[in-house]
Amino acid sequence: MLQRYQIVLLNGRIIDPESGTDFIGNLGIDNGVIKYLGKDSIKGDKELNISGLVISPGFIDLHSHGQDRENYFLQASDGVTSALELELGTDDVVNWYKAREDMSPINYGVSIGHIPIRMMVMKDAACISLKEEKFKGDIVRLPVGDGAHKEASSEEIINIKSMISKGLKEGAVCVGLGIAYTPGASWWEIIEVFRIAALYNAVCHVHMRGWGASPGNDAIQGLSELIAASSITGASLHLVHINSSGNVMVPKLLSMIKDASSKGLDITTECYPYAAGMTGIEAPLFDEGWQEKTGMDYKDLEWPETGERLNKISFDKYRSKGGMVILHSMSNDVVDIAVKSDITMIATDGYIKKGKGHPRTTGSYSMILGKYVRERKLITLIDAIRKMSFMPAKRLENLVPNMKNKGRIKLGADADLVVFNPDSIINKSTYSNPSAISEGIVHLIVNGIFVIENENIDYSSNCGKPIRA
Ligand SMILES: [Zn+2]
Repeated sequence: MLQRYQIVLLNGRIIDPESGTDFIGNLGIDNGVIKYLGKDSIKGDKELNISGLVISPGFIDLHSHGQDRENYFLQASDGVTSALELELGTDDVVNWYKAREDMSPINYGVSIGHIPIRMMVMKDAACISLKEEKFKGDIVRLPVGDGAHKEASSEEIINIKSMISKGLKEGAVCVGLGIAYTPGASWWEIIEVFRIAALYNAVCHVHMRGWGASPGNDAIQGLSELIAASSITGASLHLVHINSSGNVMVPKLLSMIKDASSKGLDITTECYPYAAGMTGIEAPLFDEGWQEKTGMDYKDLEWPETGERLNKISFDKYRSKGGMVILHSMSNDVVDIAVKSDITMIATDGYIKKGKGHPRTTGSYSMILGKYVRERKLITLIDAIRKMSFMPAKRLENLVPNMKNKGRIKLGADADLVVFNPDSIINKSTYSNPSAISEGIVHLIVNGIFVIENENIDYSSNCGKPIRA
């Protein structure tokens, strides 16, 4: 008698980046776990013939700001089965997870965030909104006052450290920092934060201080600060969006990370495949003198809600109320170098609100598979899959042992799987229509349950589980 499973996928091209496996075969799933992998005939309560399609581990996004149903479904439609907010993070781990129980179609997780904690401790003006019940544990605005600009006293640093420590005890998956948003934080404060992370074996996911070739505050200095902090404290480091923080410095930053790694430091990085960034217009990046510092001007800024390019008047108007702005800041060459590097993971830094935002939220993974792998042949299919599933899973597994069962196709692994058509997969989101969903994702399975079946998204899904330390 043939072995029988709840779900079987037949005749697919199975690619596992950990083992390097790439073969045409069958896969059986029972109770949310991969139970069969091979070429034998198998039967299932539900059987799908997927010949011509690729099965890969679901994509794991380590940098996803849109932690609500709107964003979860957009990411699912791009092949993502786990989306984590690890840069900004939260100041309230318990409530953050509680707010997402049984409501997400994909797995979710969060860091304990230095930015929101600093906003609380320094009593930042923008932190009032954080206390509103419905936003508890969510970032609604970046720091604008003392949270951004004031140096913390010794007592304040002690408070920051104890709140980070509490968050890690409550199950945060790492420590998030965005020093570009908190320029008042001294190098000493950052070292102290890294020290706490090291104590818990947690990685620091950091948006660094420096910016491209900005005079006096370039990306080389920004990364040097972090490598120093990692080396002094022993904490592991993950540099977020090397493409946008590094810009023309990307090749140098990649060489710094490789050199530091070869000396035994644990440092990783990520990028997204777009030449425009997005950030809060209230951020210190746009303080007086920003044009000289960043090499951008008003015309390089786009307000996603209206699609307009900014001028002095509209810039001042939007900066006073705050909100996300798109920065047309990078060259395509910089992005290509970042994507092609063997040490970068792919992460979106995505965020959409009511359909508006950055198209990277909705299109990053299918853009890699459609443009970088198929059309331009800049990276191989298995390397792309590795950057989007295995490498991010591996990054978190020290603190979150269950990540050893994600980002892989092997017996006993969680059935978080994406099935796509390698000949047609492509991103459709654009700056003017950032929530247009990708084409070519045929099935998406999260914890053994179909969120997408035959290209139909089940908008009632809530099979995502928390990823917690
Ligand atoms: Zn971010």
